[in-house]
Amino acid sequence: MTSKGTIDLVHLYPREMSIYGDLGNTRCLAQRIRRHGYDVRVHDHDPGATLPETPHLFMGGGGQDSGQSRVEDDLAVIADRLRDLVADGTPMIMICGMYQLFGNAFITVEGQELPGLGILDVTTRGNPTRMIGGIVLDTGLGEVVGFENHSGATVLGGGQSAFGTVRAGHGNNGTDRTEGAVTGHVIGSYLHGPILPANPRLADHLIARAAELATGRPFEPGDLDDAVADQARSRQVRRLLAA
Ligand code: GLN
Repeated sequence: MTSKGTIDLVHLYPREMSIYGDLGNTRCLAQRIRRHGYDVRVHDHDPGATLPETPHLFMGGGGQDSGQSRVEDDLAVIADRLRDLVADGTPMIMICGMYQLFGNAFITVEGQELPGLGILDVTTRGNPTRMIGGIVLDTGLGEVVGFENHSGATVLGGGQSAFGTVRAGHGNNGTDRTEGAVTGHVIGSYLHGPILPANPRLADHLIARAAELATGRPFEPGDLDDAVADQARSRQVRRLLAA
């Protein structure tokens, strides 16, 4: 079969920022892109590397506070480019530690301030108690499940939309039932798991936009069988809502 086009997928900082299975998001995106009938080039972006000329999709994962410190300098170098790509509507999914760095700032539990990109209007402070466990959300893309483990409590700015509403779990801060943040085609979320294989509709939402950017045409989805992911998600929802 001839390819419908080629999508350039960038994984930001796979060495420093990829825990609790976040690498699975990149693998899921690449595999689904292929199954939809497109080609994919996966670019691992390590500190000091140059971004590809026309990236169509970005994934960034979680990490320790120390991992976040290690990518700060490079993030400052690519900040303007990332902001331009966001303005052009490039889809990005940023999990946990990278979600925090796409916000205004992350202040660690020791009081060290790590400045963020300010792409999402959120601010995060580390706490002595961690928010850990399974999580279920209601989102604009339906029910989303995952696993969270963060000390950071995130507060949304006045006009900032959340990614979802917490039905079970902690979310942004354990108090206001918001989870994550969305601005345009950029999604920040605390959900590991990894989030995308467990929630294929979310993966395809990102891929659809990337395919449009890559080809200049509407996304032409393939016929994918997501029965196993759907069963796993339903089971986790039942288990967590009953807890
Ligand atoms: N270091 C951050 C926190 O604990 C991010 C953790 C993570 O990415 N899982 O809040």
